[in-house]
Amino acid sequence: MTDYLIDSPITLAKHIGQSRDLWQLKENDSGERGWQLSAPEIFSALRSPDAMESAKQFFFAPRENIFQFDGNQFRESLPAPEPFALVGVSSCDLTAIAYQDHFFRDDPHYQARRQQALLVGYECLSPCAKGFCPSVDAGPGAREGSADLVLHQLQEDQWLLRVLTDTGARALEGLVLEKAGDAAQTQRHNQIEACIEAFPDDSHIHAGIEAINSNSVAQETWDAAGIQCLSCSGCTTLCPTCSCYGTSDHTTGDTMIRERFWDSCLYDGFQREASQNNPAGAAGDRVRRFWYHKFSREFFQASDNPGPADRYGCVGCGRCEVTCPGVIGVHSMMKKITE
Ligand code: SF4
Ligand code: SF4
Repeated sequence: MTDYLIDSPITLAKHIGQSRDLWQLKENDSGERGWQLSAPEIFSALRSPDAMESAKQFFFAPRENIFQFDGNQFRESLPAPEPFALVGVSSCDLTAIAYQDHFFRDDPHYQARRQQALLVGYECLSPCAKGFCPSVDAGPGAREGSADLVLHQLQEDQWLLRVLTDTGARALEGLVLEKAGDAAQTQRHNQIEACIEAFPDDSHIHAGIEAINSNSVAQETWDAAGIQCLSCSGCTTLCPTCSCYGTSDHTTGDTMIRERFWDSCLYDGFQREASQNNPAGAAGDRVRRFWYHKFSREFFQASDNPGPADRYGCVGCGRCEVTCPGVIGVHSMMKKITE
């Protein structure tokens, strides 16, 4: 597909904002960055994404009704969102969306939202605080097919606009743009290489992954980490690839409603069975299970269909390291494993 040059993401936002709701990462009154609805006229300059909030909730809702039953009929409660665009999604979060697209490929609730979304990626020019996306093949360059459009800053007033899908190409119709030449592509390549070089040493991540895959981590290590886990669910809530959910039923008048909600594999009762048997009743086993789902090659999702989901369940965003009050986020845990 053809790539273009554009003077500013604001020019792009004003164009696609004519036909879609626009969301971008902005600071709230407390100084925290998160996704906010942004009218085209107040769309602000893009900054490096580096937000604790990923784009997960746009597709996999934290809490939603699945169906209801009035005593005679079951009715689905499918969402029907208007078309929207997420502008400025980091490459690691794009990889996570591609991963969840596969996991939820047959889920009508997820797909109803996903099919209305235009994903505009943002390629970071420098490492974020705890990120390690190059080590898990998730960035800093956006992976093919993971976004519709991707922005990469070349100069103060010049961006490379990559078109990765037909949806992305259609979103640009009517916008007059200059085609990008080889010099722009070379500059992008060099800037991504420089960004990769600037990441700090993360040999503990590679060593931890290999230890997990060779089953050479002592149970004592998991048990010690389990003592530090407060079951707060910070990691699973912020992790862009975590997809576990629970369901509950309640009645309103004569109608029964089934809800689903984000669950956490770090909760004591996550795997508890009706008999009260709990395969992961010990906190160390729950921590172990979490990291195996992130780094064991046994959990690659799509061995029969290689693609964005045929990969580790971690995209290297570093959010679990930042948020974990028990100091067993990804860097801390992989160091424990390898030291
Ligand atoms: S496990 Fe941690 S570093 Fe990996 S994707 Fe999840 S939150 Fe990010
Ligand atoms: S953020 Fe840390 S303390 Fe909280 S559930 Fe996750 S591992 Fe446990």
